Amino acid sequence: MGGTKRGAMANKEDLFKKIVAHAKEYGFVFQSSEIYDGLAAAYDYGQNGVELKNNIRQYWWKAMVQMHENIVGVDAAIFMHPATWKASGHVDAFNDPMIDNKDSKKRYRADVLVEDHMAKIEGKIAKEVTKAKKRFGDAFDEKQFVETNPRVVANTRKIEEIKNRLYPAMDNEDMAAIKSLIEDLAIACPVSGSRNWTDVRQFNLMFSTSIGSLSEGATEIYLRPETAQGIFVNFLNIQKTGRMKIPFGIAQTGKAFRNEIVARQFIFRMREFEQMEMQFFVRPGEEMKWYEYWKEQRMNWQLAMGIPAESYRFHDHDKLAHYANAATDIEFDFPMGFKELEGIHSRTDFDLKAHEEHSGKKLRYHDPEMNQSYIPYVVETSIGLDRQFLAVLSFAYTEEKLEDGSERVVMKLPPFLAPYKVAVFPLIKKDGLPEKASEVMGKLKNDFMCFYEEKDTIGKRYRRHDAIGTPYCITVDHQTLEDDTVTIRERDSMKQDRVSIDEISAIVGERLSVKL
Ligand code: ATP
Repeated sequence: MGGTKRGAMANKEDLFKKIVAHAKEYGFVFQSSEIYDGLAAAYDYGQNGVELKNNIRQYWWKAMVQMHENIVGVDAAIFMHPATWKASGHVDAFNDPMIDNKDSKKRYRADVLVEDHMAKIEGKIAKEVTKAKKRFGDAFDEKQFVETNPRVVANTRKIEEIKNRLYPAMDNEDMAAIKSLIEDLAIACPVSGSRNWTDVRQFNLMFSTSIGSLSEGATEIYLRPETAQGIFVNFLNIQKTGRMKIPFGIAQTGKAFRNEIVARQFIFRMREFEQMEMQFFVRPGEEMKWYEYWKEQRMNWQLAMGIPAESYRFHDHDKLAHYANAATDIEFDFPMGFKELEGIHSRTDFDLKAHEEHSGKKLRYHDPEMNQSYIPYVVETSIGLDRQFLAVLSFAYTEEKLEDGSERVVMKLPPFLAPYKVAVFPLIKKDGLPEKASEVMGKLKNDFMCFYEEKDTIGKRYRRHDAIGTPYCITVDHQTLEDDTVTIRERDSMKQDRVSIDEISAIVGERLSVKL
């Protein structure tokens, strides 16, 4: 059996298209309001997608809440008092700089145009390194090469110079400086190819709506752009009622909304998406220890799914937000390249302090061991559920050529995340086999998500379940009626065994446990 894994596929763009098409064809993800030609950057999860998404969410909750005695959950409202967003800095600073190309009428994030330009230069450096590695073989000293090769040195300097202009311009919200940088770098619109740009303008990413039935009495409120603030404002409620002792964490999953300027790449960047966040409250001065702890924990969570380590990397931020004293992203090798999947941030006491100031309510913790009150420091882990879904889906999508020359698409989902764990088939639709199969189904469905199917040939039914990632298919045949045995077929190996009905639960159950 010759498997074609994702990395080996010649054209990653092609692979991405196939995954998107597969997600639609097999009921994982649909464009929102498709019958009206869709709404940009909004997606619906279909019958299989909702199961996979629920399973990922549950896996996160288990790792964060169930496995940590000092972490509890919360489910805060999406609507929050507008002062929340003033305090958090979102009203004033949750902006992206945007720019339009006058010829193509396409809108871009100005900083992303510059970052893409830097990525191209980085690509050139990487090419030089790969070429040299081949040329010099074992004798190759990458560090020395990067420090001395004139082309690489010149390109590295170029990137440094761009960063030295971009980052201060972003910090100072100097839109004119960003515009001149784009002009000086001669960045062209990827669509029109022209350099005919508008000025750069700030664009706030929060969606607003009004609360109250009469427009005069209405108050403008925002759809939350992150779930974290629902945790901060409940910090004392939970600490007190849960008698939580520092260090402790509060976890939450839920929808967040951002009016992204450029929303593309399927469910990678949406305007309505779901976050899974955990804020961990620690003693001031101990935050770096916990930051390292959470970096490791979160990476382990990824690896426990069985996705190989080379699909991930950390990207430490060299440009920190004003409230952070350390920040890193876990990046995943998506079909469109390495991109942010999760952020781990050490946020100091910025948020609680700001809420204290704006609300006039004390948000302190009395530390009995130190006999001291203080505003705790916070280390947060923040992951997009939809991005995680895309990561899992793109890892799992596999095209295989089989020995008999036929091909199959199999979703090699970690079994504990698969929408259905077991599919039950009667071999044929008569002779009492459907009734027996229903009986088997009845025995299993209390414990596992099961799928009953009797249409088409067994081969076709296997293929359909390969395509949605069902780890086990069970076939009830005439022998079953005699001795209560069935065939059980494993998805990845396609191996079939004859087992007794009573053994199925244990076989399936064993593959479903995940060790954290
Ligand atoms: P990006 O740089 O990609 O815009 P971010 O740094 O603004 O992301 P955070 O504010 O740190 O993201 O949010 C935490 C996580 O939420 C991200 O790591 C990502 O997985 C997810 N996320 C953020 N924005 C979106 C979006 N528009 N669509 C889907 N997921 C998102």
